[in-house]
Amino acid sequence: MRSMQQGQAAAPTVVTFANLWLDGQWRRDATLTIDTTGSASELAHGDGTAPGASTVVPGITLPGLVNAHCHAFQRPLGAWTQRQGSPGDNFWSWREGMYELAGDLDLEDLAAITARCYLDLLRGGYTHVAEFLYLHRLGVPRDGAPNADAAVATAAALAGMGVTLLPTLYQHADFGGVPPTPGQQPFVRSTAQYLADWRELLRRYPADGPVALGAAFHSLRAVDVATIGALAPQLLDEPRCRGLHMHVAEQPAEVAACVAQHGLAPMALLAARGLLSPRWSLVHATHSSAAELELARCAGATVVLCPSTEADLGDGCPDIAGYLDAAGAIAIGSDSNIGRSATTELRLLEWSQRLARQRRNVLAAPGAPRVADRLYRAAWQGGQRALGVASGGGQRRADFVTYDGDAGDWALQAPEDFLSALVFDAANPQARHVMVGGRWVIRDGVHAHEAAIETSYRAALQRLAARRAAAGAGQRRGASS
Ligand SMILES: [Zn+2]
Repeated sequence: MRSMQQGQAAAPTVVTFANLWLDGQWRRDATLTIDTTGSASELAHGDGTAPGASTVVPGITLPGLVNAHCHAFQRPLGAWTQRQGSPGDNFWSWREGMYELAGDLDLEDLAAITARCYLDLLRGGYTHVAEFLYLHRLGVPRDGAPNADAAVATAAALAGMGVTLLPTLYQHADFGGVPPTPGQQPFVRSTAQYLADWRELLRRYPADGPVALGAAFHSLRAVDVATIGALAPQLLDEPRCRGLHMHVAEQPAEVAACVAQHGLAPMALLAARGLLSPRWSLVHATHSSAAELELARCAGATVVLCPSTEADLGDGCPDIAGYLDAAGAIAIGSDSNIGRSATTELRLLEWSQRLARQRRNVLAAPGAPRVADRLYRAAWQGGQRALGVASGGGQRRADFVTYDGDAGDWALQAPEDFLSALVFDAANPQARHVMVGGRWVIRDGVHAHEAAIETSYRAALQRLAARRAAAGAGQRRGASS
């Protein structure tokens, strides 16, 4: 194999993938040209390109998946939140720990944690992240948005991850305009400030640059539906806004509060206000009814599922089979980043359905009997949709992930079972080569900036530990005085 130089994309290149999954079909020795804009197009066999000029990539190669919902700053919580605080531990008690972390972070910490998180996500098979950032006031002195979004963009550039920033509006603690709690203060801003920050991000990140922009409302708990109704058209009027994202129905208490306040459950409320459209991504929908999911499907919205986080937080399990069968769009997200593998999210999605129904192959369909293939295709297409990007066609963005023989027993299977082996049978699948926008960001398992990213991440965790220890000592002194 010719050497695959990391970061290389200066000239059109020709790459031959030994096994390439394109639009649901495996191709042997598929040759693509990758142009200087990072687009790939397939060459027909024998069309004149000298095979000797191409890099040959063994293993199995798939289009990288979009991570349609990510809070990178929560990456350290996975190890910190597994000790019981009370017998009633749940999503709401986990949230207190998240607030504690959010209050401790400065911009340097955010950038370091995000870069490490994105590096993990690249190895996990993602090539683009939609970063849903509601933490925007950080550190001392308090650096405001859009610097927090900029820290994420810088980290994405260091890691080589494609990124869509979703600056997120957060204003209230609950329905009815309940004032934010002290722990929510780093998230809060006025509508006018939010719009000023949004315009600043448009100015900082030009349309032809690597950073794409969308927008988000945290939830109907955190933003009044009337505010969403007033703001959404303004945001969507901006041609560069790739779409709107929002958490919906993650917890039964949120649904109950929404019904109490508005007489409708969250997704039904959005539909009744005429807000849903193909430019909306609804995150979780764990406790949305089949009728609500049908409203989302009819509107063309995308439902973003985050199975590892939903399991870790004890959220519950969405009843999604009927929605999928009706061609509803789904994407996947790593959310809190307790899980950082795209294929593992797909496995958990199917396994959660099996646990709930005591059946197997729940998310298969008569015309798509292999669950892994159906879910990979759905997540690939839905991820593009959640980013406001069309998928398919002869030309595509050159975002590819390649798994080798360490990623399960796929090589012992017929090609039609490659994905079944990767998704359901590989213990910890890690991509060996990752290409983002035509550039190799990981090749032969190596990332050029891994040592620097790791060093910065460790330093950030040490700073956080020192702040926690100091805060604990302060509290103990206060308690004893
Ligand atoms: Zn989330």
